[in-house]
Amino acid sequence: MAADFDLSSSFIPALHKPSSLLPIARHRKNILYLIDTFPVTIIVGQTGSGKTTQVPQFLNQARWTADGKVIGVTQPRRVAATTVAARVAEEVGCKLGEEVGYSIRFEDLTSVKTHIKFVTDGLLLREALADPLLSKYSVVMVDEAHERSLSSDILLGVLKKIRKKRPDLRIVVSSATLQAEGILNFFSSKTHAIDGSDTQLAIGRIISLEGRMYPVDIHYLRDPAEDYLEEVVKTVFEIHSSEPEGDILAFLTGREEIDVALKMITDRSLALHPKAPSVLALPLYAGLTSEQQLSVFDLAPENTRKVIVSTNIAEASVTIDGIIYVIDCGFVKLRAYNPLTGIETLTPTPVSKASAIQRAGRAGRTKPGKCYRLYTERAYDALTEATVPEIQRSNLAPVILQLKALGIDNILRFDFLTPPPAELVTRALELLYSLGALDDYAKLTRPIGIRMAELAVEPMMAKVLLEAPSMGCLSEILSIAAMTSLQGSVWFEGSDGRKGQETSRRKFAAEEGDHLTLLNVYETFITKGRKESRWCRENHLNFKSMTRAVSVRNQLRRYLERLGVQVEESLAPGQKQKVDGNDRAVRIRRCLTTGYFVHAARMQPDGTFKTVNESVTLHAHPSSLMFNRKADWVIFHELMETGEKTFIRDVTKIEKNWLLEGGSGEYYQLKDGSRSKTAGV
Ligand code: ADP
Ligand code: MG
Repeated sequence: MAADFDLSSSFIPALHKPSSLLPIARHRKNILYLIDTFPVTIIVGQTGSGKTTQVPQFLNQARWTADGKVIGVTQPRRVAATTVAARVAEEVGCKLGEEVGYSIRFEDLTSVKTHIKFVTDGLLLREALADPLLSKYSVVMVDEAHERSLSSDILLGVLKKIRKKRPDLRIVVSSATLQAEGILNFFSSKTHAIDGSDTQLAIGRIISLEGRMYPVDIHYLRDPAEDYLEEVVKTVFEIHSSEPEGDILAFLTGREEIDVALKMITDRSLALHPKAPSVLALPLYAGLTSEQQLSVFDLAPENTRKVIVSTNIAEASVTIDGIIYVIDCGFVKLRAYNPLTGIETLTPTPVSKASAIQRAGRAGRTKPGKCYRLYTERAYDALTEATVPEIQRSNLAPVILQLKALGIDNILRFDFLTPPPAELVTRALELLYSLGALDDYAKLTRPIGIRMAELAVEPMMAKVLLEAPSMGCLSEILSIAAMTSLQGSVWFEGSDGRKGQETSRRKFAAEEGDHLTLLNVYETFITKGRKESRWCRENHLNFKSMTRAVSVRNQLRRYLERLGVQVEESLAPGQKQKVDGNDRAVRIRRCLTTGYFVHAARMQPDGTFKTVNESVTLHAHPSSLMFNRKADWVIFHELMETGEKTFIRDVTKIEKNWLLEGGSGEYYQLKDGSRSKTAGV
């Protein structure tokens, strides 16, 4: 019956292309048989073959959810979790949140009716805190396992443990590459104890979906690009003016870059001949609204070429039909953690060969395509084979805190898919110790450590939240925590460019730095702008982000109340500030220092900053209040590297002696003015 559909007809929107035509359809029986028979099933298939959207539906129809159990599907990224959930809900024919839902940090769109639940891998780990055997799930599918995200890796280890206590649990691992073998070995290996008579054959099987791939012509640059962003835009128009129809997918590294590129593309497309085909440029990155995310799947209007400018998310987790041309800037934003300085960065890094190949493959899904690599062939040859798993280059403090809370005390003996380097583990233990989450025996402290693990924010912010009641500023810290958790800036550029934004920002500016400025913004929004998007527009504030901050704050508040922490909301900001404005600001800054002492820096005579051990030079980000201002000691929320410079964002002035209080005192030993850092363990 599928043959009745004429696929080339533009009358059939992509959304209604029958799923029976996907490569996975022919494997349905076999996949169900394997999952029925074996504890672990590994599905390998090219991106777009239907793993993410179809397997959960197969399972649902095969009554894996009959007794109220849930099929959980993890995604390494929030955007992927929400877009695929929306897609599957559409295929199933239900409203999102009913039979099909998703759950990501601070956002839960599921109900008692939900049978298929998409979650981020990090969130499923968090669920294990409350339900250690993940007992509500009949099947857990760890999707995109080839990406080797930190939380997926840990989750696989935790699932291996759970499986021993829950033989009925089915584990499905899906991967776009053949690293699958290693994963099956991992599940069948008997690690430490005597473990029955598992053999690899008894534990599971690998199934490969042969996906069809059309040839992709690869083009390299003759000379290295000076500015890959400019080069992306140039290439878009070269393709547009000289190549036959077909949509373009361009990879850049992050939201800022993508926004700039979109603006450039839109500006330049105005110069196209009025009768020539036009260009419709669309962004795809985390932090877009769901409607924006889904609009990349819409067919472009007639006589229009769609250009999607995306982060790495379109490399494997999200598939868009109709792509014939791929532009690969050659970079991806990767997390990197320096155990010596304790500083974590998110830096554009050259992609691996595996990534470059995967990106190029996005062009050959429906017919032969072309891939433009914006680097030389020599540069390609010099790329590493595969990306280093996140677990080997991340700050491990958050996951170690989680593992400890799950009762896994001996981190070194935990069954890692790939063990992390010892210095990363040591450093994480040191940090958790100085935050008061671990005791001298590296055991989770009560109640602080347990509570830190329960709060859905990173350990430094968790510590600050838990200290806040005793410092009389919990209400304020909650607002600050919510504001700093937003992805991207709350400010937007108006039609008047940067200028208007600057003026608005100055209205809310607090002398002491960005955190208090964010607090001013939040408190004014609550009293003046909550119901009015106009107020936000006039102040160059993103209404959606602000609304989100309110909801995040409510959730954090609920988490705290569940832990038995009472939240007393402060008086209306105007009143409060008059009474003890100065004192209030001091308490807040002091409280922030109890968690963020690791992120302390001192301003140098030339206006740059140095970390405490003077090993790293930092620059205030142009969006920070501390840009071009005088300060001495500061703490900062996060770090970003672009090109040669390391920027700090959300910066607040502090007093040097606050660094000597509490756990931070042990973390830093400041001797006779010479700043030497010794570890706190
Ligand atoms: P895999 O997980 O194997 O990479 P998916 O299940 O994500 O594959 O995708 C299967 C097919 O579904 C893709 O070829 C794509 O065309 C289609 N698809 C997925 N998400 C959407 C969406 N939101 N809108 C339209 N089509 C989609
Ligand atoms: Mg997928």
